[in-house]
Amino acid sequence: APLELQDPSLLESRCLIDGEWLGSGEDAVHNPATGALLGNVPRFGAAEATKAVEAASRAFKPWAKRLAKERGAILRRWFELIIANREDLALILTSEQGKPLPEARGEIDYAASYVEYYAEEAKRIYGETIPSHRPDARIMVTRQPTGVVTAITPWNFPAGMITRKIAPALAAGCTAVVKPAPETPLTALALAVLAQRAGIPDGVFNVLTGDAPAIGEVFCSHPAVRVVGFTGSTEVGKLLMRQAAVGVKKVALELGGNAPFIVFDDADLEAAVEGAMVSKFRNMGQTCVCANRLYVQAGIYDAFVTRLAERVAALVVGDGTAPGVTQGPLITGEALAKVETLVADATGKGARAVTGGRHHGLGRTFYEPTVLADVTAEMAVARHEIFGPVAPVFKFTTEDEVVAAANDTQYGLAAYFYARDIGRIFRVAEELEYGMVGINSGLLSSELAPFGGVKESGNSREGGPHGIDEFVELKYMLIGGL
Ligand code: ADP
Repeated sequence: APLELQDPSLLESRCLIDGEWLGSGEDAVHNPATGALLGNVPRFGAAEATKAVEAASRAFKPWAKRLAKERGAILRRWFELIIANREDLALILTSEQGKPLPEARGEIDYAASYVEYYAEEAKRIYGETIPSHRPDARIMVTRQPTGVVTAITPWNFPAGMITRKIAPALAAGCTAVVKPAPETPLTALALAVLAQRAGIPDGVFNVLTGDAPAIGEVFCSHPAVRVVGFTGSTEVGKLLMRQAAVGVKKVALELGGNAPFIVFDDADLEAAVEGAMVSKFRNMGQTCVCANRLYVQAGIYDAFVTRLAERVAALVVGDGTAPGVTQGPLITGEALAKVETLVADATGKGARAVTGGRHHGLGRTFYEPTVLADVTAEMAVARHEIFGPVAPVFKFTTEDEVVAAANDTQYGLAAYFYARDIGRIFRVAEELEYGMVGINSGLLSSELAPFGGVKESGNSREGGPHGIDEFVELKYMLIGGL
């Protein structure tokens, strides 16, 4: 059955390049919960990517010269349209991505919050003056928009991962070309419909679908592109960074994670279990900040595992549009296969599935929400991003031991811990080699704060006042002869 949208024109399957809707359906988009065909989007490649970059390049100067207040007002209208169309956008999102509808609504609000924030922030991209090294001169530093920004985004947050990059870019005066994930292009195209309705000028925001390597190659090599933004796997991020080196482009990467979630003996047990639930099982465990390794101190290990397993066993798996469902399907067959392989490896090496541990009876890519106890560092779950509804629980004894284990990874995105002792809170927060640390909280992302990683988890920050930095260049002016 077709989606029951209040505004069916939001279900767009063509691409937006230079203000025109182009292309016709070649690549199918399916609903992971049902297998239903949702639409077919264009399979564009290098030629169309070049056209989009050149449109963005032509649109750049006029957009950058608009008053910040005008850019902010247009972004504000986009924000208001996103909120006004929340229900339709959430339904499109759930249909192509699988997350439960209430979570999809939450993501639309989250995505919109970046547009709102940067609509306001456009007016606050300030410069500086610096006391001069010469009596006859003054030093002035301004922030100018960098130029054409490209973005390649993933399927796990089909709306949020776009607005987090595009809203600050457009606010700063940059123009943009986005290639969404092949699994979830329809949310991106619906956002583009609303961007156009909000009055974002032709060429300022372009969205194209298709051949990822060919489009990525253009994004990394076209001389007009100044920033290559990417959220996705570390492997593809490294490839893009290498490709972008040739033209010395700024590369803004948000890559994988392997988040530790540490529960100390002095933690509030119920709060820690609640934090683990939201951190681990949101989006079926398919976020780069999901708890990937749960380390629980020996004194409360058994109590924590028992309570977590009770909560996990009560999760409701199904089609995300059905009332009461809290866990949808995984995105693809490969995602399911990866989870099954990791669980088989762990149980083969002595881990215990306290609840779950199997392909769900609903079939397709549904997987049982799972708690694994007696997990050790030798198991593959300790090293690999699970990206599924599996909570591996490790036991630890001392603070030093758990901090060392938590940092023993090439990733450094989010980390979480639960404790009450104030000394411990500061020590552990400072020792964790991560870009973000949630303390007595399993959720931390907000449009107000800088989201990003260290080590192989990336090099950029999205959100908050710092989120503009990727999209502006400092210009130093020396004014002499005074
Ligand atoms: P995931 O495994 O979560 O899908 P990927 O890193 O493969 O993560 O995908 C994230 C985004 O990167 C998607 O939009 C995808 O199409 C794109 N992508 C994948 N491979 C390449 C590539 N070689 N060049 C550019 N983009 C790519």
